[in-house]
Amino acid sequence: MKVLKFGGTSVGTAESLENVKKIVESINGEAVVVVSALGGLTDKLIATARQAAAGDPGYKTEIEGIRRRHHDIIGRVVPVSRRDAVTAEVDRLLDEMERNYDGVNLLLNLSARTLDVIVSFGERMSSHIVAAMIEDASRYDSLDFIRTEVWFGRSIADMALTEKGIKDVLGHGGYRYAIVPGFISTDRDSGRITNLGRGGSDFTAALIAAALDAELLEIWTDVDGFMTADPRVIPTARVLSHMSFVESMELCSYGAKVIYPPTIYPVFHKNIPIKILNTFNPTAPGTLITDRKGDDGRIATGISSVKDTCLIILHGELTTNVAEINSRTYNALAKNGVSVLLVSPPAQQEAFSFAVAGADADTAVKVLEEEYAPELVDGTLSEIHRQDCLATIAVVGDDLKAYPGLGTRLINTLERAGIRVHAASSGVSETTITLVTGQEDVAEAMRLIHGMLFDNPAE
Ligand code: ADP
Ligand code: ASP
Ligand code: MG
Repeated sequence: MKVLKFGGTSVGTAESLENVKKIVESINGEAVVVVSALGGLTDKLIATARQAAAGDPGYKTEIEGIRRRHHDIIGRVVPVSRRDAVTAEVDRLLDEMERNYDGVNLLLNLSARTLDVIVSFGERMSSHIVAAMIEDASRYDSLDFIRTEVWFGRSIADMALTEKGIKDVLGHGGYRYAIVPGFISTDRDSGRITNLGRGGSDFTAALIAAALDAELLEIWTDVDGFMTADPRVIPTARVLSHMSFVESMELCSYGAKVIYPPTIYPVFHKNIPIKILNTFNPTAPGTLITDRKGDDGRIATGISSVKDTCLIILHGELTTNVAEINSRTYNALAKNGVSVLLVSPPAQQEAFSFAVAGADADTAVKVLEEEYAPELVDGTLSEIHRQDCLATIAVVGDDLKAYPGLGTRLINTLERAGIRVHAASSGVSETTITLVTGQEDVAEAMRLIHGMLFDNPAE
């Protein structure tokens, strides 16, 4: 059996839903089909919640628009015999959603928990529509089996409980096509509605594929496959026919939005291949992601970028004790849920620098000020300096190590074009070279690097 996931644009309009229907109904055998909310709806639900919390009565008009959009789609894609039933179900959800918005508006307060409830309606509604549209489909509610726990204030999947839940609900067959809402989950302790993070429907699908030992995980989206770079940034980016799990993991954790980063781990562990396919061009071959390492002699496989990066630099004599500074810094950050994007070899003597996501920078600095409080007093550490508004570029390929000096060539290319490289490093896996530039330079730097590696690789 296989697991398919259709993203927001794939379920965004009546026309795209017709494609989804054709794709699913042509599958031989059983399948689990995970769906996102209608395209753009999660953003709209969040913006409308903020509007209600700010006391703007216009939120009511937005809810009417959301209701009309769902009714219109139901009217166009669901067979007449099932239309009334699905409309009643969606209306019941919309009424419940509206009561949540009214509460927010009354209290002029939007808590994170209420926002989690509000955004859950997107996938809850779209999954009812898709289930009613497809012949032989049954809907299963992921709120019953995707379980999360709280980790540093965030909800993350409880892998063991979720695996058991999926096996209990979906592991005994009894369906031809099981339609499942992506993204949404339930907190294992409080029973409240949570989610797996923005873009999390990919992860729902991967958790199901891994728990059921599926033969394949298909991610259906709006591009022909995983490309050498984001086609919105690099128009000459081209589709890759194959890449390895590690390459996709690296590119996605450095910003390639095509797959939500945690998605790859569960299927990688079970060695279940992933295929990236285009709902709008279903006969295109797509990209196959497996455990096979880079093959066709390419220097790099792809590039990606993280817009908001902060470089943190520790200065002082203590930084010459590399073992101590590494272990204390990593431990302190990890214990507080901060991950390090890259560690850069020191540009100056008696300095140690690493990068974190902009959103983690305040926590990182606070944690390090506490960790190194004694050294900041006795002077063995003179300063913890931060540099904001930077971006990280990742150049990824299983065979990068066969091209020694590539990092230096990349830096030279950027510096010749007047782009300052603030930090650089090759990852522990040797699959990734990371470069930190100013945010204002990242688009041009990506164009130059893509040109060098993929458009004119001989140069
Ligand atoms: P979905 O709604 O189907 O989950 P997303 O918008 O999350 O779709 O992901 C698909 C988008 O990812 C593409 O439209 C593309 O702009 C973007 N993207 C970023 N990097 C890449 C890449 N390397 N290859 C393909 N698409 C990419
Ligand atoms: N609807 C959610 C989002 O927009 C989850 C997803 O689409 O994967 O983030
Ligand atoms: Mg996505």
